[in-house]
Amino acid sequence: MSTQPEHIKTLIIGSGPAGYTAAIYAARADMRPVVYTGMEPGGQLTTTTEVDNFPGYPEGVDGPSMMVQLQQQAERFGTEVRIGQITSVEFNEIPGQPHKVVADGSKELVADTVIISTGASAKYLGIPSEQRLRGGGVSACAVCDGFFYKGQEVAIVGGGDTAAEEASYLSKICSKVTMLVRKDQMRASKAMQHRVESIPNIDVRYNTEVDEVLGDQVVEGLRMVNRLTGEKEEIAITGLFIAIGHKPNTDIFKGQLVMDEVGYIQTQGKTTKTNKPGVFACGDAQDKEYRQAITAAGTGCMAALDAERYLAANES
Ligand code: NDP
Repeated sequence: MSTQPEHIKTLIIGSGPAGYTAAIYAARADMRPVVYTGMEPGGQLTTTTEVDNFPGYPEGVDGPSMMVQLQQQAERFGTEVRIGQITSVEFNEIPGQPHKVVADGSKELVADTVIISTGASAKYLGIPSEQRLRGGGVSACAVCDGFFYKGQEVAIVGGGDTAAEEASYLSKICSKVTMLVRKDQMRASKAMQHRVESIPNIDVRYNTEVDEVLGDQVVEGLRMVNRLTGEKEEIAITGLFIAIGHKPNTDIFKGQLVMDEVGYIQTQGKTTKTNKPGVFACGDAQDKEYRQAITAAGTGCMAALDAERYLAANES
């Protein structure tokens, strides 16, 4: 049994574009970063197909490949990547003092500086029939699970870019996609709206919400309700995709870091500094505004530079 906690100079929690970019910069600055990947190594981009808006890929790139490349780039400069999860933290208030961290429930670590890049996770509607049928036809990732519904009729909930992108993806696999948008318009970019509306096997239903997911063990149908008229309608589907946004993965930092009302970590001014000295936050865990891979990567770079300056200022 180990008695001494392991000492880590730079601990990076999370392995999306923010975490790996922080790791690239930290490794090149000799900060000996250790990345704990979390439950979803590579982060949200591993559940995306084509990424067309990350600069430097004129032909686009698929999300999982891009994340493998980011990991390799971080490792090339000496980053240690561990498949595991940070389960609790005890951040120090005193500048220069290490932070206590527990990995995988029992492994004790102390870190001179901590970079949080834990990202965000998909939200669900929260109604009982949806929760009961998660894994039985209800999914929050069309790219992961769409294949299982080849040639079948499905529905998707949401009106943002994710829902529009996933509806378009599903339309190529499934015979019909019913898209439920709760308002009278989508939040998605105009380009995405036009794309969705031009695809013949996508049926967009505005002002419409899920009343109940039908089926005992697996999804067999959906009862929808029109928010304006109260009218209900049942359709037969085998898969229901939820694409209504994300929640930041910051629960383990509650009570230690200043956050907004929904859990996004608050950073100071134009920096990635949190309210604890030596603890920095980047990517979707602290950004509810932009939430792009490229902005996450940018803030990951900032966090590594902020951490480097912090370490230099507190060197004994
Ligand atoms: P958004 O927060 O942008 O959109 C969420 C959507 O879900 C909205 O239409 C919202 O409706 C709806 N919604 C929320 N809660 C419910 C509910 N309980 N019932 C029904 N509908 C609900 O999330 P996204 O995941 O779509 O996008 C997140 C960010 O990522 C955005 O900035 C987006 O632009 C970006 N993105 C960019 C892509 C690209 O450029 N290729 C691809 C995917 C995402 P309402 O409008 O009524 O609130």
